[in-house]
Parts: sequence; C-alpha cells; structure tokens
Amino acid sequence: MSGWVKIVGLGPGADSMITPEVTAALAEATDVVGYVPYVNRVAPREGLTRHGSDNREEIRRAEAALDMACEGKRVAVVSSGDPGVFAMAAAVFEALEAGKPAWRALDIQVLPGISAMLAASARAGAPLGHDFCCINLSDNLKPWALIEKRLRLAAIADFAMAFYNPRSTSRPIGFERTLDVLREECEPERVIIFARAVSTPEESIRVVTLGDATPEMADMRTLVIVGSSLTRVIERAAAPLVYTPRSVA
Ligand code: SAH
Repeated sequence: MSGWVKIVGLGPGADSMITPEVTAALAEATDVVGYVPYVNRVAPREGLTRHGSDNREEIRRAEAALDMACEGKRVAVVSSGDPGVFAMAAAVFEALEAGKPAWRALDIQVLPGISAMLAASARAGAPLGHDFCCINLSDNLKPWALIEKRLRLAAIADFAMAFYNPRSTSRPIGFERTLDVLREECEPERVIIFARAVSTPEESIRVVTLGDATPEMADMRTLVIVGSSLTRVIERAAAPLVYTPRSVA
C-alpha cells in the first residue's frame, strides 16, 4: 500500500467523541505523529510507531510526517478537537507549501473532529445558536494588538465568542486584558461560560456574569464562551441552560 497523510481530530477528550472515520484511519496507520499528550491518546499496538513531540515543534513534525509518507508510511497526524481549528492541518499545509515538490504528489486528507467550542457549547446548552466568532487568545504566533482589535470589534458587533488558549502560566496577563476589554464594551450582566476539560473526568462547567468573572477561572484546559447581548440563562433545579436565540428582532 502506498503512503498517505491523514490529519485527524481526536475530539475534546472522550473516546466516544472520536468519529468512526478517525478511528478507522488510526487503525490503518503505521505511524502517528503529534504533541505528546495527543499521541498518548492513541493506544499502542503492534505495527504502529508513535512519535510524540513538543508543543512548539509543529513545522518540524509536519515535515517529518510528509517525509515518512513519501517513504510509503501511512501517517496519522493527530490534534485534539478538530485538526483545522488552531491545530496541525494548517501547520502541515505551511510545511507543504514551503517544502519539497515531491510532497505535493502525496495523498493528504483532513478528517474533522469535534472542536472544543462545540463540545463546550453542547454541555452548556446552545450559546452559539446565533452568529458567533472564535479567537485564539495566545499571542505566540500573532501580536497582542491584533487580538485586542479583533476582540473589541467582535464585542462591538455583538457576536457570541469562543476563546481558545485563554490563559497559561507563561501568558498570565492576556486573559486579564481580555476581561478588561470586554468590560469596556459589554454590560456586567453578560453571560460567560468557563468550560474546562470537557468530556474528561475533570470536566467542569461554570456559568457566571462578566461582572463576576475573574482571570483565574480560565487555564489552558478551558474553553471560554462569552454570550452576545441576547444570550439567556434558563435557571432550573439542575445546571442552568445557556442559549442564544436564533433571531434578532
Ligand atoms: N484543535 C483544538 C484546539 C487546540 S487549541 C480543537 O479544535 O478543540 C487548545 C485549546 O483548546 C485549549 O487551550 C482550550 O482552550 C481548548 N480545549 C481543547 N480541549 C478542550 C477540552 N476538552 N475542554 C475545554 N477546552 C478545550
């Protein structure tokens, strides 16, 4: 069989949220490539070599995957969630565009997964039921000024928003600034959802108002959803349901 590259999404954590298409690709792969914790989510088996690498090694990892496929290997490049959302698919194509002409002859496919914002939104209700946008709050690959501009304009445009990579120990300030910008543009009653480790045993879903939100509510395992001005909370004995109606009067 000739080589291929399948760039696959492992979903937010639970095996039940991995698509059958991705499971089949992983079963056929000879090699799996990705960030160590994601590679570790693929069970070892005979005939499968797992290549875990560091978080910031995306381009080198993509190049290695393309080279291995040229040698006839069946390579699964793994991401959490969906591989097209702040993840490996774009990294593979950056490597492909700048790299060896032979790579362009390869069979390359992207297999979607359940992205964190969809899993988080489903747990909370339907906060993304009307227009929304998503923003990666990490300034590792773009200037903070651009993040702040997009954030402010999205708030002014009254989008619901999903934030990936909200806060890490090496970037403690960004999320504080995010909350400051939101407080400048939105009312204090605005609904915010902190969805942490969704679909894993550590899952927690917290629904608060912008007025009560604090930076420590987010970490690198948290997906933050900020409602639009129309987002509503249905209180009940069980956990509240958060939703954004489908229409604007
Ligand atoms: N490709 C991934 C996103 C990678 S960026 C996807 O589509 O989901 C990593 C960020 O995703 C984390 O910082 C966090 O904001 C979010 N994330 C990933 N898995 C999550 C989970 N199980 N629960 C909550 N947020 C998660």
